[in-house]
Amino acid sequence: MIQRIPVMRFCISCRKTYDRKHLLKITKDHKKGVMFQKGMGRSAYICKSKKCYSDSKIKKKLQKALKTFLEPGFIDTFEKEIASYNDNPNKGI
Ligand SMILES: [Zn+2]
Repeated sequence: MIQRIPVMRFCISCRKTYDRKHLLKITKDHKKGVMFQKGMGRSAYICKSKKCYSDSKIKKKLQKALKTFLEPGFIDTFEKEIASYNDNPNKGI
């Protein structure tokens, strides 16, 4: 029997640790730019708490965590992504 050990990551906003499955992953992919739930490169995680993803400083926190500049339209994409992720928690996992 294989015991599954959950991969713990922390939310860059509230800094609490959660099982990786319960977080939205944002990756700065080396080739494709910023991606959600996929990609290879520097990653940051945000929990599904509205307080965290709707934080007015979230873009700044992400830019710092990913060490990259985020386009002005990023937040729109991000909000759509987190909304669909909340509707369908199994997406991309
Ligand atoms: Zn959080």
